[in-house]
Amino acid sequence: MTETNTVPDTAVDPVCGKTFDPRKTAFSAKDEKGTHYFCSDNCQRQYESAGKKAKKGFWAKYTDRLKDTHCTRTPPECR
Ligand SMILES: [Zn+2]
Repeated sequence: MTETNTVPDTAVDPVCGKTFDPRKTAFSAKDEKGTHYFCSDNCQRQYESAGKKAKKGFWAKYTDRLKDTHCTRTPPECR
């Protein structure tokens, strides 16, 4: 197997916090933090239409979720 681009095995959607396989999604965006992958085009659009401040909010929530990984509840805002 030869992989020309370095797509990780798992990615976390910064908008909804879902973990998924980025090779199975067509939704990604690049910015100064690198490449981000999204589970749906809805999440991608939310991220892209968000301003700098809102993006910070996404990442803050994302970091909160990482602290919360022992808890498997689904965030209510993401179905
Ligand atoms: Zn998502």
